[in-house]
Amino acid sequence: MPQIQVNEDDLKKKLTPEQYHILREKGTEAPFTSQLLNAHDGMFACAVCGQQLFASDAKFESGTGWPSFDKALPGAVEMRRDADHGMERTEVVCSNCGSHLGHVFEDGPPPTGLRYCMNSASLTFTPVPNPRPSGSLAVEVGGVPLHRRERRWGGMLDA
Ligand SMILES: [Zn+2]
Repeated sequence: MPQIQVNEDDLKKKLTPEQYHILREKGTEAPFTSQLLNAHDGMFACAVCGQQLFASDAKFESGTGWPSFDKALPGAVEMRRDADHGMERTEVVCSNCGSHLGHVFEDGPPPTGLRYCMNSASLTFTPVPNPRPSGSLAVEVGGVPLHRRERRWGGMLDA
């Protein structure tokens, strides 16, 4: 069950009509219209309540025209059975406010095998201030190589 009560009138003022339709009336945006298809290195959050939902590490190119992720942050989303439009699908909603985000399908990449197919209108994107250093490049300042920082990115958001 959603944790917070949403004031629908306030929300209509805050969101665009399309956003409101998608988030609160289970709408779907047209494919390949997303501003977030090329968004990398950051955090995707619920456009209604701001709860963080997906890290860019989980984003992959699905070719569908909608932002796609292979996993959500732990506890960030809830699944609901959706039999609308003559299809049996699994709806994905924000666990905090219950807003519609998209659907999840079981044809994603390993290891999860899941494809969270999201409406970009349901998400806000915040880039990380310091994107990950690119792979094997050593950082140099004034010609002096600094110690390469060992950073572990993989798995840090696993439950
Ligand atoms: Zn929310």
